[in-house]
Amino acid sequence: MMRALLLALSARPALGRTMDRLPLTRRVVRRFVAGTELEDALAVIQRVHDGGLSTAVTYLGENVASEAQARAAAAAYLEILDQLKRRSLGCTPSLKLTHMGLDVSEAVCMDNMRRILDRARDHGNRVWIDMEQTAYTDRTLRVYAALRGEFPNVACVIQAYLRRSEADVRRLIELGAAVRLCKGAYREPLDRAFRTRAEVDRSYERLMDRLLSPEARAAGVYPGFATHDARLIARAAERARALGVPREGFEIQMLYGIRGDLHAGIRERELALRLLVPFGEEWYGYFMRRLAERPANAVFLLKNLFR
Ligand SMILES: Cc1cc2nc3c(=O)[nH]c(=O)nc-3n(C[C@H](O)[C@H](O)[C@H](O)COP(=O)(O)OP(=O)(O)OC[C@H]3O[C@@H](n4cnc5c(N)ncnc54)[C@H](O)[C@@H]3O)c2cc1C
Repeated sequence: MMRALLLALSARPALGRTMDRLPLTRRVVRRFVAGTELEDALAVIQRVHDGGLSTAVTYLGENVASEAQARAAAAAYLEILDQLKRRSLGCTPSLKLTHMGLDVSEAVCMDNMRRILDRARDHGNRVWIDMEQTAYTDRTLRVYAALRGEFPNVACVIQAYLRRSEADVRRLIELGAAVRLCKGAYREPLDRAFRTRAEVDRSYERLMDRLLSPEARAAGVYPGFATHDARLIARAAERARALGVPREGFEIQMLYGIRGDLHAGIRERELALRLLVPFGEEWYGYFMRRLAERPANAVFLLKNLFR
């Protein structure tokens, strides 16, 4: 109920503009978002690298409505890549196709993606394409597959809560894709998505097994298990060991500001761990999805507001 409400509110940017004016909200937002400027993100990324972990970076934004906005977002990613190179930070961008203009046209989006992937390839970086609501799943996978033919450094995301994901993973294995597996962060109808936690977790386990399978490895698949679920992280480590997948054959991915208490244990297991560091003024949709994932976060925010 609370999750549904928060996800419905996440599509109301006007509320975000109001929240943005409240210093207290900004302070809570900072728990999940590195800051509004690239310099804020670079400082966090440097700190995380100094601590021995890898990173991904997201310049927050989604659903831009004009070609100019999409081009500006792409230009921001080119600047991010250049700054990362200048500082010798091997950090991978993770972006949304609706930020690159997918709502404007597939051609605009593809053009922006080509420029980013080209620059990232020169710098030796991979680029992850985030997965958004189901209205975009087909188009996202189509754009991914088209780009994959030209850019071996493009990676994609699969959401375990979607009923279709098993078939999508089968096709991605054929492409030898780098695939981030997450549970899924949006509100989807029951005919498309599993609803209960147990169903989503079972689906995650099935897809994990497929992505670690000898068939997937032979095809060149590189899985990233994106979750803060300690049980699933432990399971990934056990399955990988049982199947003889080496440490460099997969990674665990987590979000900045969430379950930092798990990092030490993951490193003790000698697993590769990547933290996704988001930044930017357009934090609202991202922040609301983080609140929806854990109602205690919303309670924390409300307590701060009324204090
Ligand atoms: C690196 C990364 C990239 C992602 N990319 C995408 C994407 O492209 N598309 C997409 O739909 N989703 C994406 N997600 C979000 C994902 O789908 C889930 O919504 C999110 O990770 C919560 O699920 P979980 O796997 O952590 O498991 P859960 O079962 O939700 O949580 C496990 C435990 O983690 C902790 N936890 C989880 N979320 C929070 C939170 N917000 N605040 C505090 N504690 C929390 C809690 O202790 C909880 O018990 C991404 C997640 C990560 C880590």
